Amino acid sequence: MSGTANIPQPHNEPVLAYAPGSPERATLKAALDRMADETIEIPVIIGGEEIRTGNQHSVVSPHEHRRVLAKAHQGDEQLVRRAVTASREAWREWSAMRFEDRAAVFLKAADLLAGPWRATVNAATMLGQSKTAYQAEIDSACELVDFLRFNVQFAERIYQEQPRSAPQMWNRMEYRSLEGFVYAITPFNFTAIGGNLPTAPALMGNVVIWKPSHTAMLSNYYLMRMFEEAGLPPGVINFIQGESVMVSRTLLAERGLAGIHFTGSTAVFNGLWRTVGERLDHYAGYPRIVGETGGKDFVVAHPSADGDALAVALVRGAYEYQGQKCSAASRAYVPASLWPHVKERMLAMIAEIRMGDVRDFRNFMGAVIDKRAYERITGYLAQAKRDPGVTILAGGGAKDDTGWFIEPTLIQVSDPKYRTMCDELFGPVLTLYVYPDAKWTETLALVDSTSPYALTGAVFARDRKALAEADAALRHAAGNYYVNDKPTGAVVGQQPFGGARASGTNDKAGSILNLLRWVSPRTMKENFVPPKDFRYPFMAEA
Ligand code: NAD
Repeated sequence: MSGTANIPQPHNEPVLAYAPGSPERATLKAALDRMADETIEIPVIIGGEEIRTGNQHSVVSPHEHRRVLAKAHQGDEQLVRRAVTASREAWREWSAMRFEDRAAVFLKAADLLAGPWRATVNAATMLGQSKTAYQAEIDSACELVDFLRFNVQFAERIYQEQPRSAPQMWNRMEYRSLEGFVYAITPFNFTAIGGNLPTAPALMGNVVIWKPSHTAMLSNYYLMRMFEEAGLPPGVINFIQGESVMVSRTLLAERGLAGIHFTGSTAVFNGLWRTVGERLDHYAGYPRIVGETGGKDFVVAHPSADGDALAVALVRGAYEYQGQKCSAASRAYVPASLWPHVKERMLAMIAEIRMGDVRDFRNFMGAVIDKRAYERITGYLAQAKRDPGVTILAGGGAKDDTGWFIEPTLIQVSDPKYRTMCDELFGPVLTLYVYPDAKWTETLALVDSTSPYALTGAVFARDRKALAEADAALRHAAGNYYVNDKPTGAVVGQQPFGGARASGTNDKAGSILNLLRWVSPRTMKENFVPPKDFRYPFMAEA
């Protein structure tokens, strides 16, 4: 086709309500019933080929850990190397393919997810990651649809960015893919991130080896199949689950490693970066390293804040998805004058929270992801119960007989540097410090300096001067900063997401900034009238 195609204008995918009697509720319930009762096999997918290794890992429901949803075949070192070969073979055509053809694959995937695949992927996220219908809908359906559609538009804007040309020449920029493969390592907590980390580099012409999280295998596998249905050529994204240290060790030893697209904990990311640093001489180029990592997200209220709005933001921000959002509110600073009202409102709401199997739509919370998370969080709670100066105002209990359930927990501390104010717990635990009203400025300094992370944060105030002071004092304390709103729920195209300090490279998933990391521009100058004489005019005798 000759002509410059216009990209369809993206819009945010509307969030369906799943109210009683709605057609989407009936479809989702049917998918849940069907999928809860089956145990599927999940192969490794390399070069479009499904490989069953026989070494299987069980995928279970966190809220009902005896229920085996899938058996996932694990890859070994040899298969990981095969994925490198398959990606190299796919690279030749894919990296040279026209943008419209690559874009069409992902625009089609977006429409498949918004339509026929929606209930399957949402049900898989609910059953496999213990999200409620609403939390699954905003993640695995809407956010991923948005990533896929908006990224195509961001890519177009990158390609349109071209240099000036002086007379008698034409300057151009070609946005090449990276020369090699991108290694995408994805976390358990957002199906949308599972889908975005491999597809964002692929959209820019790269080939990818995707290692999903073993606790998000069910939803991530359905995404992989959906990308194939959308026309993704074999080998462009290779899907390989396996022991994570082995997969990383094998891939980071490859000369063709061109990039790492990671989301997960800070410690794992630091280890990957360190290994790349040690092997720099060995790579064909400098690998692009993009990592969005941990958080210890704050909410700080000024005495002028609206106490009701603050209480709701704290409850939703801290307990939705069991506090397992990287953006979850996990430390709060409330002035003494507001505290009695906020406390009463929060305790009333927490008492109303229902927790259990997410197939019962009345539940606001499910279980935490696995035994390891359960033990980590309950360890902190056990210690908190023993420590002086720590009061558990709500929750604190846990039960793991059917699923890994931890009650929504509210802790008040007298020491604002107590460990649960500093460490990322990644569970339904909010720690709160009540400060004297007169210490607003000092409290802002405390918020800024308490944790190594800088992912999300929120300030509540009605006083404009207080908001301006917080805005300046907390400038580097959060990459996503909220005013009179909870610190969770970023929407693609509206609040590009990512943090700095120990929270990552802040390349803002779902924005033009992220896609820029996956291209290697080539500048071309074409001279229409090349000189024919090597001498310059100044060299002539007068
Ligand atoms: P995780 O670090 O345990 O795992 C992330 C991925 O890394 C998984 O695929 C895992 O299998 C793999 N992995 C684990 N150990 C590894 C190793 N030694 N070598 C190579 N790969 C390894 O994180 P998680 O529990 O899946 O997710 C929760 C974390 O992710 C939290 O810290 C959260 O804050 C963070 N997170 C951050 C963002 C963000 O945008 N900043 C978004 C979501 C989650």
